[in-house]
Amino acid sequence: MIRVSQPVTGPEELDALKRGLEKAYFGHSADVVELEKALAEFLGVGERPVVCVNSGTAALHLALASLDLEPGDEVLVPSLTFVASFQAITAVGAVPVPCEVRETDLLLDLDDADRRITPRAKAVMPVHYAGNPGDLAGLHAWAAQRGLRVVEDAAHAFGSSCGGKRVGAQGDLVCFSFDSLKNITCGEGGALICPDADSAHRAGLMRGLGMERPQATQGGPPSRSAYDVVTQGWRFHMSNLNALVGLEQLKKAPAFFARRQQIARRYDEAFSGLAGLALLPVDYAQAVPFLYTLRVLQGRRADMIAHLREREVETAVNYPANHQHSLYRNLATAPLPVTEDVCGQILSLPLHCALSDDQVEFIIAQVRAFLA
Ligand SMILES: *Cc1c(COP(=O)(O)O)cnc(C)c1O
Repeated sequence: MIRVSQPVTGPEELDALKRGLEKAYFGHSADVVELEKALAEFLGVGERPVVCVNSGTAALHLALASLDLEPGDEVLVPSLTFVASFQAITAVGAVPVPCEVRETDLLLDLDDADRRITPRAKAVMPVHYAGNPGDLAGLHAWAAQRGLRVVEDAAHAFGSSCGGKRVGAQGDLVCFSFDSLKNITCGEGGALICPDADSAHRAGLMRGLGMERPQATQGGPPSRSAYDVVTQGWRFHMSNLNALVGLEQLKKAPAFFARRQQIARRYDEAFSGLAGLALLPVDYAQAVPFLYTLRVLQGRRADMIAHLREREVETAVNYPANHQHSLYRNLATAPLPVTEDVCGQILSLPLHCALSDDQVEFIIAQVRAFLA
């Protein structure tokens, strides 16, 4: 079976884990700080601090917690996203307001979001679907005019750029995931990019159960036992073991990105103009694709999935619409016809760095054969 997604690790990650295990301390320590520095440099974030956590979901949760929302405050979010976006919003007592995406690129439809804004709306959570950040400057201007904070769910967009800057190097709060399938992996992990040192300090406290330790005294190590608890917090810190894997993956990131872009461009070239398909308009000079998703038209998606499965090609539907899940069905919301339509069309083809050129050509041939 050709898998739809999978991580690529090698002897470097194995060696890093071995070194980590030999240190006999696996919690948050110097390796996590080193990964934060390396990420800051890689992304070019300047003065915007990086806070590593144990998942992308935890990054979203911390970002929202740092906004001091009141219970019942609303966060605008596309219904078409991984459920982690919705769970993070409800975890802080806020209410997700599911919005439409644009049919073409599956990014948040700001005109639709505008129609759903109420006085309780405090933030917007755009999702950089498939790795495409869209027009970030336009998005932030739109949010600023409406007094909304922005928490970018950039789980798909590690490495993507917009206007000459990497995602994370601009904007307000930006959240990445390094789970096992993302553009780089820590095994499990995530990072939150904060707008300033104050918000990063608060996020850092909340990441570690709200515990504040006194500064290290001259010449001595910081005490582990002397601390005060100053805020609600969670157990969201990253393990050194995950950080060590992330540091190795970061070295490979440029090669990973180039390969992902190469495969996506090849798919685009092979599928452009085929009747029965709609491709996402993504600029791979800017975006590092996490997914290669297309829309299968004329109600033929289930048949295409079955056709590919018979030929040992795994596919995925990213994602079912969140407003249709049992937990969210009773959110008061105007209909979301575009989302419901595209959720019946989207299909993700295999995209990862373990795919060979032959496998890519095989997948292309099977898709073409199905449509012919
Ligand atoms: C992966 C993902 C997350 C959550 O990241 P984890 O590290 O798996 O917790 C959030 N949002 C989207 C869109 C994702 O794809």
